[in-house]
Amino acid sequence: MKTPVHDFEPGHLPFCQVCNSKQLELVLDLGHQAPCDSLLTAAQLNEPEETYPLRMVRCRDCGLVQIDYVVDGSKVYHREYPYRSGITKELADHHHRLSIDLVKRCNIPLDSLVIDIGSNDGTLLKGFKRQGMRVLGIEPTNVAKFAVEDGIDTIQSFFTDKLADEILRQHGKAKLITATNMFAHMASLGSVIRGVERLLDDDGVFVIENHYLLNIIEQLQYDSIYHEHLRSYAMKPLLQLFSYYDLSVVDAYRVASYGGSIRVFVAKGRNRPASAGLSNLIAEEHQAGLYDSAIYDQFRAKVLQTKRSLYNLAVEAEAKQQRFVGNSCPGRCATLLNYVGIDRELMPYIAEQPTSLKLGLHLPGKHIPVVENSILFKEQPDYTVLLAWHYWQPISADLRKRGLKSKFVLPLPELRILSE
Ligand SMILES: [Zn+2]
Repeated sequence: MKTPVHDFEPGHLPFCQVCNSKQLELVLDLGHQAPCDSLLTAAQLNEPEETYPLRMVRCRDCGLVQIDYVVDGSKVYHREYPYRSGITKELADHHHRLSIDLVKRCNIPLDSLVIDIGSNDGTLLKGFKRQGMRVLGIEPTNVAKFAVEDGIDTIQSFFTDKLADEILRQHGKAKLITATNMFAHMASLGSVIRGVERLLDDDGVFVIENHYLLNIIEQLQYDSIYHEHLRSYAMKPLLQLFSYYDLSVVDAYRVASYGGSIRVFVAKGRNRPASAGLSNLIAEEHQAGLYDSAIYDQFRAKVLQTKRSLYNLAVEAEAKQQRFVGNSCPGRCATLLNYVGIDRELMPYIAEQPTSLKLGLHLPGKHIPVVENSILFKEQPDYTVLLAWHYWQPISADLRKRGLKSKFVLPLPELRILSE
């Protein structure tokens, strides 16, 4: 079987990233946008800003949902990438539980080599190290230095098949390779899979965790479509992807992280049998209509409806001279605010926790400044939009406890205003 192209050059991508079919249909056009984590300094506001097409398309042949433009990796994952998993408590807790679950579920013996691709600040690997594993992180951005400071062995680089050969020589084969929330990201997908294929021990497991297409569609999470997320996975296209290599998806189930993800287990060898859980998940996808056009037409109509209601609320608040501000600045809020058309006239600032690396910078596109969240309690704005709406419960409870009286606005999956 001839393997399709899985390593993509920057630029327009007129074919499917899994099966290479050209039968792509448009799901949603989010306009031209700047990479969502390229926040700007005050000085950069005097310079032009590069934007790229952001379109969500679907392959009619294998069902993959993807974007059809690849931004050069060095522009998306610039070295100052302002994101650390360890600073969000929910995420740190999630990673900790994940490390314990995986060691148990995959029967990983003590002192095995565990590799995390896209290891960020080493939060996940710390959990494996505590359980007596040898750990190695691969992280291209400067966030790697936080991991190294904390004693987590980390190579600051992109993971490629070439790097995998080098690791193999120095450390041997890995019993467990993890790729959480990054497997949908890289343009060099083929190189990563070939690297995993070589580095994984015969009885080893490759675990992927990624945002799940069914959650994106059902909960209208179109704000998770941005240039870093080249692909939005469902199980059928993932099975097809690994079938081109000496690897098989053997198990998968849904987990709650990032507003709904799938945890996928991949083992060595072709055509390995699927678990009952995996078969059920695929049946659920078919039942939901994930492989038919109709569900995507409904999705687009609902997105337009929520766009109108959020924009109208912002404009009405401005007309009444009410303060309408944002809280938390996850990458996805750039997609949301740029697409809906909310600028700094309508939303004067976005408040972030004091440890955030985004403070003092400006949102790409609409240039809304990111400021420390103590301002909320002093200013008591009329409306606070919870931009990390997929975590709205703990966030709103915390802000209330600290004395914020604003009405909370949840922008999605439908506009909700909470005054309690
Ligand atoms: Zn396809």
